[in-house]
Amino acid sequence: MARYRNAACKICRREGEKLFLKGERCDSSKCAIEKRAYPPGQHGKTRRIKKLSDYGIQLREKQKIKRYYGLLETQFRNVFYKANRKKGITSENMLKMLESRLDNVVFRMGFASSRSAARQLIRHRHFLVNDKLVDIPSYVLKPNDVIKVREKSRKLDAIHSSIRHIREGGQYPWLELDKANLQGIFMEEPNINDIPVPFNANLVVELYSK
Ligand code: SF4
Repeated sequence: MARYRNAACKICRREGEKLFLKGERCDSSKCAIEKRAYPPGQHGKTRRIKKLSDYGIQLREKQKIKRYYGLLETQFRNVFYKANRKKGITSENMLKMLESRLDNVVFRMGFASSRSAARQLIRHRHFLVNDKLVDIPSYVLKPNDVIKVREKSRKLDAIHSSIRHIREGGQYPWLELDKANLQGIFMEEPNINDIPVPFNANLVVELYSK
Protein backbone atom coordinates (compact mmCIF):
# COMPACT_ATOMS: atom_id res chain seq x y z
CA MET A 1 0.00 0.00 0.00
CA ALA A 2 2.79 2.44 0.94
CA ARG A 3 4.47 1.77 -2.38
CA TYR A 4 1.26 2.48 -4.20
CA ARG A 5 0.67 5.69 -2.23
CA ASN A 6 4.12 6.96 -3.07
CA ALA A 7 3.97 6.25 -6.79
CA ALA A 8 2.94 9.81 -7.66
CA CYS A 9 5.69 11.26 -5.46
CA LYS A 10 8.28 9.09 -7.18
CA ILE A 11 7.30 10.68 -10.47
CA CYS A 12 8.02 14.15 -9.01
CA ARG A 13 11.33 13.02 -7.54
CA ARG A 14 12.39 11.51 -10.84
CA GLU A 15 11.55 14.74 -12.67
CA GLY A 16 13.15 16.82 -9.89
CA GLU A 17 10.05 19.06 -9.76
CA LYS A 18 6.87 19.35 -7.74
CA LEU A 19 4.18 18.28 -10.19
CA PHE A 20 1.35 18.54 -7.63
CA LEU A 21 -0.12 15.07 -8.13
CA LYS A 22 -1.29 14.37 -4.57
CA GLY A 23 -3.59 17.18 -3.59
CA GLU A 24 -3.22 18.68 -0.12
CA ARG A 25 -0.07 16.74 0.64
CA CYS A 26 1.76 18.65 -2.11
CA ASP A 27 1.47 21.94 -0.19
CA SER A 28 2.48 20.42 3.12
CA SER A 29 5.80 19.54 4.73
CA LYS A 30 4.94 15.90 3.92
CA CYS A 31 5.72 16.52 0.24
CA ALA A 32 8.33 13.92 -0.71
CA ILE A 33 10.30 16.31 -2.85
CA GLU A 34 10.69 18.72 0.07
CA LYS A 35 11.98 15.88 2.23
CA ARG A 36 14.01 13.96 -0.36
CA ALA A 37 14.99 16.14 -3.29
CA TYR A 38 16.85 13.43 -5.13
CA PRO A 39 15.71 10.67 -7.52
CA PRO A 40 14.02 7.59 -6.01
CA GLY A 41 15.74 4.24 -5.71
CA GLN A 42 18.64 2.73 -3.81
CA HIS A 43 21.27 4.90 -5.50
CA GLY A 44 19.11 7.97 -5.99
CA LYS A 45 20.95 10.04 -3.40
CA THR A 46 24.42 9.32 -4.70
CA ARG A 47 23.59 9.16 -8.42
CA ARG A 48 25.50 11.72 -10.41
CA ILE A 49 23.25 13.99 -12.39
CA LYS A 50 23.91 13.32 -16.06
CA LYS A 51 24.03 16.33 -18.33
CA LEU A 52 21.12 15.92 -20.68
CA SER A 53 21.29 16.63 -24.40
CA ASP A 54 18.85 19.19 -25.84
CA TYR A 55 16.72 16.25 -27.00
CA GLY A 56 16.85 14.72 -23.50
CA ILE A 57 15.72 18.01 -21.94
CA GLN A 58 12.82 18.31 -24.39
CA LEU A 59 11.81 14.73 -23.67
CA ARG A 60 11.81 15.35 -19.91
CA GLU A 61 9.65 18.45 -20.33
CA LYS A 62 7.17 16.41 -22.35
CA GLN A 63 7.01 13.80 -19.57
CA LYS A 64 6.39 16.54 -17.03
CA ILE A 65 3.48 18.03 -18.99
CA LYS A 66 1.91 14.61 -19.57
CA ARG A 67 2.18 13.74 -15.91
CA TYR A 68 1.05 17.11 -14.68
CA TYR A 69 -2.18 16.92 -16.70
CA GLY A 70 -2.45 13.11 -16.47
CA LEU A 71 -2.42 12.37 -20.20
CA LEU A 72 -1.23 9.33 -22.10
CA GLU A 73 1.16 9.74 -25.01
CA THR A 74 -1.50 9.46 -27.72
CA GLN A 75 -3.85 11.88 -25.97
CA PHE A 76 -1.05 14.37 -25.53
CA ARG A 77 0.09 14.05 -29.14
CA ASN A 78 -3.47 14.77 -30.30
CA VAL A 79 -3.56 17.91 -28.18
CA PHE A 80 -0.29 19.02 -29.75
CA TYR A 81 -1.52 18.42 -33.32
CA LYS A 82 -4.74 20.32 -32.68
CA ALA A 83 -2.81 23.18 -31.06
CA ASN A 84 -0.44 23.27 -34.00
CA ARG A 85 -3.28 23.59 -36.51
CA LYS A 86 -4.81 26.54 -34.65
CA LYS A 87 -3.83 30.14 -35.30
CA GLY A 88 -1.32 31.61 -32.86
CA ILE A 89 1.59 30.25 -30.86
CA THR A 90 1.44 26.46 -30.60
CA SER A 91 2.76 26.20 -27.02
CA GLU A 92 0.19 28.74 -25.83
CA ASN A 93 -2.63 27.04 -27.74
CA MET A 94 -1.59 23.73 -26.22
CA LEU A 95 -1.60 25.05 -22.64
CA LYS A 96 -4.94 26.77 -23.10
CA MET A 97 -6.45 23.54 -24.46
CA LEU A 98 -5.08 21.53 -21.53
CA GLU A 99 -6.36 24.12 -19.08
CA SER A 100 -9.84 24.00 -20.65
CA ARG A 101 -10.30 20.30 -19.90
CA LEU A 102 -13.05 19.58 -17.41
CA ASP A 103 -10.79 17.50 -15.13
CA ASN A 104 -8.30 20.34 -14.87
CA VAL A 105 -11.01 22.92 -14.16
CA VAL A 106 -12.72 20.74 -11.52
CA PHE A 107 -9.30 20.46 -9.84
CA ARG A 108 -8.37 24.14 -10.17
CA MET A 109 -11.77 25.21 -8.85
CA GLY A 110 -11.07 23.09 -5.79
CA PHE A 111 -13.79 20.43 -6.12
CA ALA A 112 -11.05 17.77 -6.18
CA SER A 113 -7.68 17.60 -4.46
CA SER A 114 -5.79 16.50 -7.60
CA ARG A 115 -6.42 16.05 -11.31
CA SER A 116 -6.63 12.28 -10.90
CA ALA A 117 -9.22 12.70 -8.12
CA ALA A 118 -11.11 15.08 -10.43
CA ARG A 119 -11.14 12.47 -13.21
CA GLN A 120 -12.56 9.89 -10.85
CA LEU A 121 -15.31 12.21 -9.61
CA ILE A 122 -16.24 13.17 -13.18
CA ARG A 123 -16.35 9.53 -14.32
CA HIS A 124 -18.59 8.78 -11.34
CA ARG A 125 -21.05 11.34 -12.72
CA HIS A 126 -20.87 13.98 -10.01
CA PHE A 127 -20.75 17.07 -12.27
CA LEU A 128 -22.99 19.04 -14.58
CA VAL A 129 -21.85 21.44 -17.25
CA ASN A 130 -24.54 23.98 -18.10
CA ASP A 131 -27.01 21.73 -16.25
CA LYS A 132 -26.16 18.66 -18.34
CA LEU A 133 -24.37 15.66 -16.92
CA VAL A 134 -20.82 15.28 -18.25
CA ASP A 135 -18.77 12.22 -17.31
CA ILE A 136 -15.86 12.70 -19.71
CA PRO A 137 -12.74 14.12 -17.99
CA SER A 138 -11.28 15.40 -21.29
CA TYR A 139 -14.45 17.38 -22.10
CA VAL A 140 -13.35 20.80 -23.37
CA LEU A 141 -15.03 23.78 -21.74
CA LYS A 142 -15.99 26.97 -23.51
CA PRO A 143 -16.01 30.47 -22.03
CA ASN A 144 -18.95 31.04 -19.64
CA ASP A 145 -19.64 27.33 -19.14
CA VAL A 146 -21.05 26.67 -15.66
CA ILE A 147 -19.68 23.68 -13.78
CA LYS A 148 -21.83 22.44 -10.95
CA VAL A 149 -21.76 19.57 -8.44
CA ARG A 150 -24.90 17.47 -8.95
CA GLU A 151 -27.62 17.79 -6.37
CA LYS A 152 -27.25 14.19 -5.23
CA SER A 153 -23.45 14.55 -4.89
CA ARG A 154 -23.48 17.67 -2.72
CA LYS A 155 -22.72 15.82 0.47
CA LEU A 156 -19.66 13.98 -0.79
CA ASP A 157 -16.81 14.18 1.72
CA ALA A 158 -14.17 14.17 -1.01
CA ILE A 159 -15.59 17.38 -2.49
CA HIS A 160 -16.05 19.15 0.84
CA SER A 161 -12.66 18.28 2.25
CA SER A 162 -11.05 19.59 -0.91
CA ILE A 163 -13.04 22.80 -1.33
CA ARG A 164 -12.77 23.92 2.27
CA HIS A 165 -9.16 24.99 1.59
CA ILE A 166 -10.18 27.21 -1.34
CA ARG A 167 -10.98 30.87 -0.80
CA GLU A 168 -14.40 32.18 -1.86
CA GLY A 169 -14.33 33.36 -5.47
CA GLY A 170 -11.60 30.89 -6.37
CA GLN A 171 -7.89 31.25 -6.85
CA TYR A 172 -7.44 31.82 -10.59
CA PRO A 173 -8.51 34.92 -12.53
CA TRP A 174 -10.20 32.96 -15.32
CA LEU A 175 -12.33 30.82 -12.98
CA GLU A 176 -15.07 32.06 -10.70
CA LEU A 177 -16.10 29.91 -7.76
CA ASP A 178 -19.33 30.07 -5.81
CA LYS A 179 -18.43 27.87 -2.85
CA ALA A 180 -21.80 27.97 -1.12
CA ASN A 181 -23.56 26.67 -4.21
CA LEU A 182 -20.78 24.28 -5.21
CA GLN A 183 -20.53 25.69 -8.68
CA GLY A 184 -18.19 27.78 -10.77
CA ILE A 185 -17.79 29.48 -14.13
CA PHE A 186 -15.03 28.92 -16.65
CA MET A 187 -15.09 32.58 -17.64
CA GLU A 188 -12.51 32.53 -20.40
CA GLU A 189 -9.41 30.76 -21.61
CA PRO A 190 -6.59 31.71 -19.26
CA ASN A 191 -4.03 34.33 -20.04
CA ILE A 192 -0.86 32.39 -20.64
CA ASN A 193 1.08 34.38 -18.02
CA ASP A 194 -1.47 33.47 -15.33
CA ILE A 195 -1.09 29.69 -15.70
CA PRO A 196 1.24 28.37 -12.98
CA VAL A 197 3.07 25.42 -14.52
CA PRO A 198 6.36 23.74 -13.59
CA PHE A 199 7.57 23.11 -17.17
CA ASN A 200 8.49 24.84 -20.39
CA ALA A 201 5.91 24.07 -23.10
CA ASN A 202 8.08 25.65 -25.83
CA LEU A 203 10.60 22.84 -25.45
CA VAL A 204 7.89 20.29 -26.16
CA VAL A 205 6.85 22.12 -29.31
CA GLU A 206 10.50 22.05 -30.44
CA LEU A 207 10.54 18.29 -29.79
CA TYR A 208 7.47 17.60 -31.94
CA SER A 209 8.53 20.03 -34.65
CA LYS A 210 11.67 18.06 -35.54
FE1 SF4 B 1 4.25 14.00 -3.87
FE2 SF4 B 1 2.78 16.19 -4.42
FE3 SF4 B 1 5.20 16.47 -3.44
FE4 SF4 B 1 4.85 15.58 -5.95
S1 SF4 B 1 4.35 17.61 -5.19
S2 SF4 B 1 6.29 14.79 -4.40
S3 SF4 B 1 3.00 14.38 -5.70
S4 SF4 B 1 3.47 15.48 -2.40
